Amino acid sequence: MGNIKEVKFREIKRSHIGRSIAGLLFLGIILFLAFASIFGVFAFYTVDSKIRDEYQKISIKVQRDGKSSLTDYLLIDSDGNIIEEKGNNTCDLKSGGNMEFIGPVDDEALPEHIDEKIKQMEPVFSEIAEEMAITVYPDTRFPIFTRDWDGDFMVDLWKIKDVLIASVDRNRGKTEFYKTDLLRLPYWLELPQSDGTRLVCRADFVLYLRELAVIIALAAIVAVVSIILCVYLVIFLIRNLRQRKKMREVFFMDEVTGKHNWMWFLQNAESILKNRRNRGDKYAVLDIVFVNYRNFCVCHSVKEGEEMLCRVYETIEKHLDEKHELCAHHSAAHFAAMMQYEDRDILEGRIRDMIADLEKVNSDHKFNFWVGVDRIGKDRRDIDIEREYNNAGAARATITGEDSAIAFFDEKMVEEQKWIDTVNESQQKALENEEFLVYYQPKYDPRSEKLVGAEALIRWKSPVHGMVSPGRFIPQFEKNGFITKIDHYMLDHVAADQRKWLDAQKACVPVSVNVSRAHFIEEDLAEQIRDIVDKYSVPHDYIEIELTESAFFDDKNALISTIKKLKGYGFKVSMDDFGSGYSSLNSLKEMPLDVLKLDAEFFRNDDGEGRGQIVVSEAISLAKKLNMHTVAEGVEEKEQVDFLAREGCDMIQGYYFSKPLPKEEFEEKMQ
Ligand code: C2E
Ligand code: MG
Ligand code: MG
Repeated sequence: MGNIKEVKFREIKRSHIGRSIAGLLFLGIILFLAFASIFGVFAFYTVDSKIRDEYQKISIKVQRDGKSSLTDYLLIDSDGNIIEEKGNNTCDLKSGGNMEFIGPVDDEALPEHIDEKIKQMEPVFSEIAEEMAITVYPDTRFPIFTRDWDGDFMVDLWKIKDVLIASVDRNRGKTEFYKTDLLRLPYWLELPQSDGTRLVCRADFVLYLRELAVIIALAAIVAVVSIILCVYLVIFLIRNLRQRKKMREVFFMDEVTGKHNWMWFLQNAESILKNRRNRGDKYAVLDIVFVNYRNFCVCHSVKEGEEMLCRVYETIEKHLDEKHELCAHHSAAHFAAMMQYEDRDILEGRIRDMIADLEKVNSDHKFNFWVGVDRIGKDRRDIDIEREYNNAGAARATITGEDSAIAFFDEKMVEEQKWIDTVNESQQKALENEEFLVYYQPKYDPRSEKLVGAEALIRWKSPVHGMVSPGRFIPQFEKNGFITKIDHYMLDHVAADQRKWLDAQKACVPVSVNVSRAHFIEEDLAEQIRDIVDKYSVPHDYIEIELTESAFFDDKNALISTIKKLKGYGFKVSMDDFGSGYSSLNSLKEMPLDVLKLDAEFFRNDDGEGRGQIVVSEAISLAKKLNMHTVAEGVEEKEQVDFLAREGCDMIQGYYFSKPLPKEEFEEKMQ
């Protein structure tokens, strides 16, 4: 699969619902942990600061008034024995922990005119509790201190959170602290004494309304924020999932048929094939082409053509098992399908039935369909659907003609493709290394049996593939355009040989050189041929140009103009393989040719009624009337030679006289 497709697939796969839910859960956990830690820190800070405050308060009280001022306490010696006890002992000494001792209040740090400052402060609130007034002022920078005020009162100042509480005791020495506490939890604090004993006294954990309000407010804010966040996340998730579902639909939907597209096919075919080995199923990938689609669009409209594509899709779908088989619109007139099969013949039968239905998708037209089939054995691993579909396409590309047909991909095709690849890769090097050899096949006069000419035929002597005949590479050269270089190469070598033979005063004969029709696209081909021959100063009547068969070029005007120019330069021009494929009677009418080479097929598999002979005889007489010479190709038997001699055929080129020969052997024939 291509890179871009892979990236797209990954993106689509990422949109799986499980991932979204997992993401949401993860986020939820993170949020929960974040809130829990905020609460934890807040709770710790509150408890910690309260215990410290309580510690300070008790230690100052003990310092100032002695332990007798405490209501509940225990005095413990260094061995852990209780030596003095007062009040209600509920202390569990065993599970007591150590508290950090903050130390006594630093008297130095007390402000000198605290009274002035306190007087200047605006009270936050004040209340009368029993016989005393409690006034609450905004914070000072001191956590806790005790001081005589005006000499009349004992003032205790406590910092609880950001509020300073002053407890004023008019009956000096007796300090009590009144406040509106909400929650009171008793616990025990240990105060180390200078004599090595430990004073464990009761303290209270008090939670005030204000603090509770802060906690509740904080909890409420956190709860509201969490709910909003959760709702938002759920909405986000739902929207996201919907969006992704839509995205998947768009991604996998074919915009022409509204059904499945190639990407959908790729994904699903791959997953079916992955599981197939467990079930031992065999599958085939099909490339189905609606042959007449383009024409139909031209004659009607693209819209109507697309409607036909929809019907084609539906018809293909009808022939598939919806559970285990798939189809998709690939592009333009191409459809992909994947079918299960047991046996090739049964599969072919099913495809034929499908084609029969497809041909009838429109009652006014009979459409044609080409189907390429690539079979995937049940044991094959390493399956790439794109490659399988390409194989099916390669098989389909071998179908010729317009009619509906099926072609199966096989190993021979792979070999063929590999060979084409090899030819393409090595052609230039082979040319540079002179791996192409010129063989000469003599042409004889059937009456005198004298050598009267020859045809230069190429052979490829490859160091890797051995001797390769032209049928294996010339068609590929014609397709890839390398044929023009080959034709020049051959002409050059033939002209050089002719020059050598002329110089050696051998009995030279005209040699015909094949020039592919594909070459005739070049306007100055006649000039190129003339220049090559002139390079060796070979008289032009020693070179003949054979116009070979080619399905790849048919610009008649260019052909005729080049033939005329060649004739003008004194070269003879022959039509190769007359009577086969594209060489028609019509071309005889239009092209001023010198020689007609009768195709070897005329002399093979004669039906015994002599029909072949009648055609040959008429062709020779037609050529004569058109002032053309005739050469019979592929003659292998004496009777054929005798017959051709009788009919007045000018030359015979065939195994009866000689096979194509290497240069040296041909030289011997010339003597
Ligand atoms: P062609 O030009 O029609 O060449 C005649 C082919 O028939 C040659 O095949 C020759 O070996 C074969 N042949 C001749 N007499 C007999 C016979 O009695 N029996 C049988 N069975 N075969 C006979 P070859 O050499 O394999 O060439 C095949 C084709 O390749 C040629 O057909 C020609 O179209 C093309 N070709 C060969 N050399 C060149 C070249 O240099 N340039 C181009 N453009 N095409 C070439
Ligand atoms: Mg030829
Ligand atoms: Mg021929």
